Amino acid sequence: MARMLVMTPSFEDVGKAAIATLAKKLLLDRGIDVMIEDRVLFAHHGHGGPLLSGHLDTVPFDATGWTFPQGEIVNGSLYGRGSVDMKGACAAMIEVAGRCVERDVPVRVALTLDEEYGGMRGAAEVAKLIATDPPPITVIGEPTAMVPMMGERGYHYIQVVTRGRTVHSAIHWKGENAIYGMAKVIEALERYSIENGPGCDMNVSPNIIETPKTTQGNMVPEECRLHLDIRFTGELDMGSVESRIKGIIGEDNGLKFSLERPLNDGSPIYSPPARFKMDAPLMRTVESIIGRRFGEAQYTTEATVYSRTLDNIMIWGPGNPMMAHAVDERILSTDIESYTNDLWNLLKRIVDREQPSNEKEGL
Ligand SMILES: [Zn+2]
Repeated sequence: MARMLVMTPSFEDVGKAAIATLAKKLLLDRGIDVMIEDRVLFAHHGHGGPLLSGHLDTVPFDATGWTFPQGEIVNGSLYGRGSVDMKGACAAMIEVAGRCVERDVPVRVALTLDEEYGGMRGAAEVAKLIATDPPPITVIGEPTAMVPMMGERGYHYIQVVTRGRTVHSAIHWKGENAIYGMAKVIEALERYSIENGPGCDMNVSPNIIETPKTTQGNMVPEECRLHLDIRFTGELDMGSVESRIKGIIGEDNGLKFSLERPLNDGSPIYSPPARFKMDAPLMRTVESIIGRRFGEAQYTTEATVYSRTLDNIMIWGPGNPMMAHAVDERILSTDIESYTNDLWNLLKRIVDREQPSNEKEGL
C-alpha cells in the first residue's frame, strides 16, 4: 500500500486529487466512513476514538540524481519522495484503521493534503470538527525513528537583505554590489553553524539566495536576499531569534543589512515552539507500550495546529527523519510493518484503558 501511495506523486497542485481518490478507496475498502473535504480526508469508525494524523502531500522532487525510480523496492527499502515523509506512516494508519473496524475499536483518521505547502488548514479543520469530542490520544506519524516526541521546535522564516547601488557592470567599481555584502553574511552564518552544531537551541539554514531587482546579466545588483529557515527551542521567541541573528551576522561590525519577514496570508511565517500536554499516567502507559522515553522533535508538524485545542498529542512514526525531503528518500518495509503492529497495540491498550471494565465485559 505504501508503494501505491509513493507512486502517486502529490506535491503543490500536482496529483492531489489522485492521491485523495486512492486513499479514500483504501479506507472505504476497509469499511471506514470517509468525509472528503477540500484539504483533508477525514474518516472515522465509532465515536470518541484516538486520532491518527498524517499528510499525503510531499515536497516536490527532481528525479535526476535519484539512484532508483520512485516506488522501487531495493534491499527491503522503499525508495521515493514521500516514502518517509510520510506515506509509509499513512499506509500503516490506513491498515490500523482497518483492524479497528474488524474488532470494532473506535478510531479517527485525518490525512491532509496541505501540510508541506498550503498552511496546514486541513488539520485546523479537523481540530475544529473534533473539539467537542477530543480523542484520548492523537498520533502524528511523522518520522521519528519510532521515538515518541512530545514537543517540537519553533519555526521562523525570514530574509536577510543587503543593499548596494546599481551601475552598468562594465564599470562595476563605480557601484556597490549587494552580493559582496551578502558573502559576509553567509560566512558569519556558516561559522555559527559549525561552532554550534545540530543540538544547539537555534539552528539556522540559508536555503535560497536571490537578486530580485537584477533582471540582466550586465547590471551590478543593488539588492540581495537570503532566505533563512530557523528552528529553535522553547527559550526563544520571534524577537529573541531575530536579535540573535543580527548579533551573529554582526550588526556591531558595521555590516549593513536588514531583516524582513515575508508574509503568508498577511502573517509572518512563524510557529512558536510547542510542548504538548499529556497526562502523566497516559505518558507512562505509552512509554511502557512503546518501550522508549519521550523526546523533542527538530521540525514542525501539524501537532502545532492540533495542540492549540487538544491535549495528549505525540509525534511518533517510522523511518529516519534525516531522509525527509532528501534525494534517495527511502524507508525500510520492515519499519512500516513494525510501526503498524506497534500502533495497533497502542490503540487497543489506550481504548481499553478509556473504557470502564464492565463495558469491556459487555455488561
Ligand atoms: Zn511530513
